[in-house]
Amino acid sequence: MSMNERYEPQSIESRWQKRWAEARTFAAGRRPEAEKRYVLEMFPYPSGAMHMGHARVYTIGDVLARFLRMRGHDVLHPIGFDALGLPAENAAMKDGKHPAERTRENTISFREEMKSLGYSFDWDREIVTSDPEYYRWNQWFFVKMLEKGIVYRRQGKANWCTGCLTVIANEQVLESDGEQRCERCGSPVVEKVIPEWAFRITAYAEALPSPGRPRRSRSSRPASTRSTAARMSSSRRSTPSSRASRDPSGRPRSAPSSSACARPTPRSARGRGRRRRASSPVPRR
Ligand SMILES: [Zn+2]
Repeated sequence: MSMNERYEPQSIESRWQKRWAEARTFAAGRRPEAEKRYVLEMFPYPSGAMHMGHARVYTIGDVLARFLRMRGHDVLHPIGFDALGLPAENAAMKDGKHPAERTRENTISFREEMKSLGYSFDWDREIVTSDPEYYRWNQWFFVKMLEKGIVYRRQGKANWCTGCLTVIANEQVLESDGEQRCERCGSPVVEKVIPEWAFRITAYAEALPSPGRPRRSRSSRPASTRSTAARMSSSRRSTPSSRASRDPSGRPRSAPSSSACARPTPRSARGRGRRRRASSPVPRR
């Protein structure tokens, strides 16, 4: 071997990454005859720099995606950025910048770092949920649901941080010596009744198939109009609680079902070993 025998990632990896990008090596749909597989990790939440928690999550998913490609499958392995919410706002305030600007910068650096790690994402399908071109459709759906009465307003109890002045998620409430405190700022957490949005999903319970029960015909009307436990808390306040359960560094999140779905849900390193509040009124997603 006459070449330099040292492994030099800067030259070797960037060369291959460039080639993958030019050839669209990881684009879905390149094997139309093959069995399809869908590998989805939760989207990163670029309120700061990428860290090892992210690297772990996306490496695990990438291993699976590459494995499935090697098995001959046509793999859809998309990526995007999910940035609306309190951490982005807090990061922006800390830096004295507008959240949109700060998030844009973070997203750019995230993207570069993910590319330098060589993840086999289909970058053609990247979405950015904080992009108005994207969330205008969330808003459209929401308005439609509101018009149909599927979404409604009600009062609900939530964890309220007296320091952050926001709702926080169950996972962010730490209990020590009988006191409940905010994981982020350490301030006392109290229960507060606030207006929130709720989905009337139980109205459709009868229409949904379940094991052992045949699917009802599409024309059947929802029988129940009871409200639902699955809630979405109100406007701006909802953001911290819902977002807080979505960080790649330690948050569970619902995702589209798939036959090969990589959704590791590592625990938050910050909260590890400390006792969490067992029950709380803030809904989990
Ligand atoms: Zn706080």
